[in-house]
Amino acid sequence: MAKAPHSVTAHAALSTQLIHHPYVAPSEFDSAAVGVHKASTVIFPNVAAMRSRTWTDKSAYTYGLHGTPTTFTLEERLATAEGGQHCILVPSGLAAIALVDLALLQAGDHVLIPDNAYGPGKDFASAELDKWDVQCEYYDAQHPGDLAARITPKTRLVWLEAPGSVTLEFPDVPALVAAVASANDARQAQGLGRRIVTALDNTWGAGVAFQPFDLGVDVSMQALTKYPSGGADVLMGSVITRDADLHHAMLMTHMRLGLSVAANDAELVLRGLPSMALRYAHQDASTRALAQWASTRDEFEVVFHPALATSPGHATWKRDCTGAACLFTVAFAARYTAAQVDAFCDALQLFQLGYSWAGPMSLIVPYDMAGMREGQWPHSGAVVRFAVGLEDTADLQADIEQALAKLG
Ligand SMILES: *Cc1c(COP(=O)(O)O)cnc(C)c1O
Repeated sequence: MAKAPHSVTAHAALSTQLIHHPYVAPSEFDSAAVGVHKASTVIFPNVAAMRSRTWTDKSAYTYGLHGTPTTFTLEERLATAEGGQHCILVPSGLAAIALVDLALLQAGDHVLIPDNAYGPGKDFASAELDKWDVQCEYYDAQHPGDLAARITPKTRLVWLEAPGSVTLEFPDVPALVAAVASANDARQAQGLGRRIVTALDNTWGAGVAFQPFDLGVDVSMQALTKYPSGGADVLMGSVITRDADLHHAMLMTHMRLGLSVAANDAELVLRGLPSMALRYAHQDASTRALAQWASTRDEFEVVFHPALATSPGHATWKRDCTGAACLFTVAFAARYTAAQVDAFCDALQLFQLGYSWAGPMSLIVPYDMAGMREGQWPHSGAVVRFAVGLEDTADLQADIEQALAKLG
């Protein structure tokens, strides 16, 4: 039986009447849009419900922090997109990386991260995890043997990213997963320690071009900020797994950290999802055309895009992916000074200077590779990453051409 607070309203003061108003809209309503449910407080019908309801299996609502119909629906759709079972929403892609680290690592553990991984995620490990006596080490994701050689009895988590950030080298994910699996088999045979978990940053694949769970990865995180949103107007992240125990461990850490996403932000991502595969395909085609064209220009020493045969990891990309995202990166010929390349970036009209990608507007970022990697970077020319938006491809090519013409 539900409590009946509404009988008080007839004689109550106006503010009380308005807060406890008896009208309840009919429940028969449906539309293409998912409702935007806003709540810190969730109302229980009676004490028994308050005591017995659980939220961890999404069977009921208890508090805004623990989910609403809006966030539960978004989680289910994202889990479907990535071929996973369980999804947790967090306020940014970086928060998703931090949640995986904090949930799965403890003092004394060792975590391995690709040297070409998303920079702020590397920084989280070296600056924050270090305070909690978790040791981080970088490996060369293009060489599974390098990963295998760096696994120690203390290794608990291995990060993967496909492709690498900025320079887009595509790793052999099944081979990296196999290196971890064989370390786990050896550990099990000796009755030693906890199993090593693999976690992949799937922001680039977005559940459209690449299916990490089919390749044996345990956890997939994404910056929903990129393709799922598609609007360059919201920050959000997801952590998805097929493993109920891993999900539960991460869900408990998520709860204790008090991480939450706002209903209006969840709505923005829900609006982005129906067009995500179409946007992905369109931006993929446009980016490939531009990267292909860029590879014919002698201003660039090298163009990185996994669909180019000359790009590192092209063969594994071809084997494991059904598409490619909206990014390509160039290393300018060494004859151009850094100042000339900065002037090239400033001369672009459609490509704006800004971080992030997969929104409607094309963006560029010049990168200083020195200091970004432990490993040696082999190109001396300045590096610029292009993120292709939804503008017309010919217009974008013309924009790059006019800026190149000013290089001199
Ligand atoms: C953007 C990005 C992130 C971080 O996402 P934010 O929502 O900006 O915090 C993580 N990984 C990759 C590969 C990204 O591109």
